[in-house]
Order: sequence, then C-alpha cells, then structure tokens
Amino acid sequence: MLAADTVAMATGASALNERRAFVSSRITDKVAAYMDAHDFDEPTLVFDLDHAVGSYRTLAQSLAPAHIHYAVKANPEPQLVRRLVAAGCRFDAASRGEIALCLDAGADARHVSFGNTVKKVGDIAWARAHGIDLFAADATEELDKLAIHAPGARVYIRLLVEHSQADWPLSRKFGAPAEEILPLMRYARAHGLNPVGISFHVGSQTRRAEMWRPVLTEAAGVWHDARAEGFELEVLNIGGGFPAFYGDEVEAPMGYGTGVMDIVRAHFGDVPYIMAEPGRGLVAEAGAISAEVLLVSRKRPSDIARWVYLNIGKFSGLAETIDEAIRYQFDTTADGGETGPCILAGPSCDSADVLYEQRPIQMPTALRAGDRVRILNTGAYTTTYASVGFNGFPPLHVVCI
Ligand SMILES: *Cc1c(COP(=O)(O)O)cnc(C)c1O
Repeated sequence: MLAADTVAMATGASALNERRAFVSSRITDKVAAYMDAHDFDEPTLVFDLDHAVGSYRTLAQSLAPAHIHYAVKANPEPQLVRRLVAAGCRFDAASRGEIALCLDAGADARHVSFGNTVKKVGDIAWARAHGIDLFAADATEELDKLAIHAPGARVYIRLLVEHSQADWPLSRKFGAPAEEILPLMRYARAHGLNPVGISFHVGSQTRRAEMWRPVLTEAAGVWHDARAEGFELEVLNIGGGFPAFYGDEVEAPMGYGTGVMDIVRAHFGDVPYIMAEPGRGLVAEAGAISAEVLLVSRKRPSDIARWVYLNIGKFSGLAETIDEAIRYQFDTTADGGETGPCILAGPSCDSADVLYEQRPIQMPTALRAGDRVRILNTGAYTTTYASVGFNGFPPLHVVCI
C-alpha cells in the first residue's frame, strides 16, 4: 500500500530554497506522482479517492456482516462521500450539515444514522423530516427532545467506555454508565420511542483487535440484560476506532476486522443489524500533506534539539497533535543523511502551536528553510480541524485525486 518510489537523490548541500527532491516516500503512488508534479504555495492535503474506496471495501469485507457507516467527520470531502455512496457505504452523521452532505451526495436517508448524543432540537426535527430514523442518546433530556421532535423514532443508547486502550480515547464525554442503560431504554419506551439497541466507541486509534475485548465484554453484559428484560434489540453499533499507521505497529486491516468480529460473534451471538463507524481507518492512509520548512534554529549554539517551524500547525490542520497523542511521520527533501532531535512547531504566533516537544522528532541535520515536508497518513481529522484563518494562515487546502 505504501509504495516506495525512489526519485533522484538530493544534489548539492544546502543553498537556501534550492529545489531538492524526496529520496523516498511512503505514500500512495497517485499522491506521490501528484506531489512530484506540483508546487504548493500553501499546506495542501492530497487525497487519493481510490485508496479510500479500497479501504472501505477491505473494512466491509473484514467486518461482514456488519454494515459500514462511515463517520463523516473524519473527512467530509463531498467527492469522497459521493464515491462512498456509489460503493454502497452507509453513514454516521453528527449534525444537520453532515446529514445534508450525505443526502446531497445521494445517500438513502434510511442508511444515515444521527449518532451525536448532543443534538440541536432544530436538527432533530429537520433530520426526521428528511427521513432519518436512527438516533443516538445517552441522557433522559436527549430522549425528551427526540420524543417531541422525532416521535416514534428508533434510538440506540450509547454506553460510556471507561477503560479505553486507544491512543486517542474519547474520554468520559460520551455515553451513559452500564447501570444506566436499561433505565434509559425504559424511559425511551415510556416516551413513545423505539429503543432498538446500544452503541459504544472503543476510542480512536485502537491499534489491535484484542484491545476491544474488555469493552465488548462489558457491552455484551448490558445487551443480554436488556434482552432478558424483553427489549427486542436489533441494532448493535460497535462505533469506530479502526487504526491507521503512524509509526507504531498496528494490526493489518483484514486480520483486525475479522478479529473484532470474532469477539463480537462470541459475545453477542446473532444480531439482526451490526453497524461499524470507521472514520480514521477508512481515510487516514489515503492522504498526505505537502508542507514546507519556514525556519530551523537553535536557541543556543550548544542546544542538542533544533526548533523546526513548519508552514502548518495546530491551527491549520494538525489539531490531533494535542498532547502529542497522534504522532505523524514525516518525509523531507533533506532525507538520506544524518538526523538529530527536533522540536516541531507551527507558524502561528500562539505559543500553544508546538506539535512535538515532549518526544522530539528525528529530522535530517541538513534540513533548511525552504525544504519540502510530506506529512504522512493525514487523510483523517485534518482538513476540517483547521481554523478559518488564525494569524492570516489559510485553512488547509485539499486536492482530491
Ligand atoms: C468520531 C466517531 C467515529 C469515528 O471514529 P474513528 O476512531 O475515527 O474510527 C465513530 N463513531 C462516532 C460516534 C464518532 O463520534
């Protein structure tokens, strides 16, 4: 998947802004060819649509019989959503805007879930009027809103995951604790809604299938209790969490998906409708960002670590570097020689705009202002995480190829 395309070795040493070439890259052939053929004045995500559709097919095959509901927030490019609709993908949306995006791209409303547990009442009514009939909730007040604005709707209750082993856990913000799920189902039924199932999210970037086991065990306990009480559950939503490669080993997609489904089958038995909501795992590896080094400096001549300032930072697409949780990999046009530790920072005048400092990144000693940098596997959670223009730096550009 990550093709090695070797291009001409960098020539000469270091004249500022001299055009140098990438020694090698670990990005898709299409992205590599496009980047080689273009100059980018601003940071740009180059996104390979075929690769994303290929990832969808692999996920669908490995997670069968689960239906894939792509978590639109990971990358809401309309061209991508249209391609996924054509490939048979379904969707999980978090707002009226995301639902409209899916419907405009041709998705069937019956295949779009409204999975945000915190919804605007206007959005609920709008979604209902447009044929959406599957909603998430984790609180009585949310069920009240649904009962009024989407009476009779099918609803699943989200379980709070406390022991995530993910690199980007979704914390305690979402879900109700296990002992509250049945009371919420009873409340939903008493208010004219149709409680059809449960959902959870193991946490984003969960690197191995086995890490799902404790969460699935807990969810299965709730599931079987609800059935024992007479709820005819039909929807098991196993959420997202499927990983991308950022340098630490991740299980290959096919083995990962079948591994998760083996655990699901063992714990839940026959389930009428299983849905999975991959975001990152479907799109991250389809894209890479072309960026540029603006400055390399040492605070003191004796400092070991250099500061490397890029033309992209936390406010222009790399928000997932918060707490250094997601550690991207970099190719540069100065690769091939000696390397040393670098603190990586963005271009804005906000001191929070430092990408990696706790664990510095190894970068070539020869790195200079003007060198090009490719940030690998950045097709997820980048484009829409960019500010509208903080400090005058534009949001991340996107090219779909
Ligand atoms: C963000 C989100 C996802 C996607 O998560 P990934 O870790 O990117 O796969 C799935 N489901 C819900 C409800 C989400 O909020």
